[in-house]
Amino acid sequence: MKANYHTHTKRCHHAIGNDEDYVLAAIAGGFDEIGFSDHTPWKYDSDFVAHMRMKLSAFHEYKQSVLALKEKYKDQISILLGLEAEYYPRYMDWLKQFVHDEHMDYIIFGNHYYRTDEDGIYFGTACSNEAYLDIYAKECIKGMESGLYSYLCHPELFMRAYPRFDRHCERITKEICMCAKHWNIPLEYNLAGLQYNVINGIEEYPHHRFWEIAKDCGCSAIIGVDAHHYEALSDIRYWNQAVSYLDEELHIKRIERLEHFGF
Ligand SMILES: [Zn+2]
Ligand SMILES: [Zn+2]
Repeated sequence: MKANYHTHTKRCHHAIGNDEDYVLAAIAGGFDEIGFSDHTPWKYDSDFVAHMRMKLSAFHEYKQSVLALKEKYKDQISILLGLEAEYYPRYMDWLKQFVHDEHMDYIIFGNHYYRTDEDGIYFGTACSNEAYLDIYAKECIKGMESGLYSYLCHPELFMRAYPRFDRHCERITKEICMCAKHWNIPLEYNLAGLQYNVINGIEEYPHHRFWEIAKDCGCSAIIGVDAHHYEALSDIRYWNQAVSYLDEELHIKRIERLEHFGF
């Protein structure tokens, strides 16, 4: 079983290609199941317009497109309708109602911003100091405890900003992992991050120390392509690299197919 639940579309303004290109690439890459999980729209109180997510007005067309592809390719691949969503306390009632009303298959938890992106800060920039590491971990935990999300995306996103994986990183990694273990929520091994690491010769996320701690805490891993380009689904080099690391080197429990979707 080869499945990927982390796929973006051009509606988030930083992904490339048509939805069908992603499906064809996934078939070429040998996937049995893919989920589209573009950056969720939010219904903001203010007139804020986000530039890294689909607009609420684009959602209907997104849903129709994914459902049409699901039907068209049903004999070749299973396609699910999802979203990648943050945890914004003041808007969670809205999100819960939205995913229910729209019959979403699942949502995954991308803990990108503190508070909201209207008035908050991107954790991938903010987490250069210990205070924000703690805030990041607390928000991860609150989100996981909400029971809404199928898994936690790029759980060590803080390494995009933090200079090195020190004892503070170890402490918050344990907090995140203990919560994930308690609620049986898989942690994502993110292939967009892996590609970024390899190309730049650095180690941000995924980070081997995070994954060693996750293994020790008894967590389970799930590989997420985090595709912003359809070729990320047909070029399986990073997928194979991740499988061999997780299965043969780390020996962590790996989820190949989501059975429990949260809400
Ligand atoms: Zn993300
Ligand atoms: Zn993503």
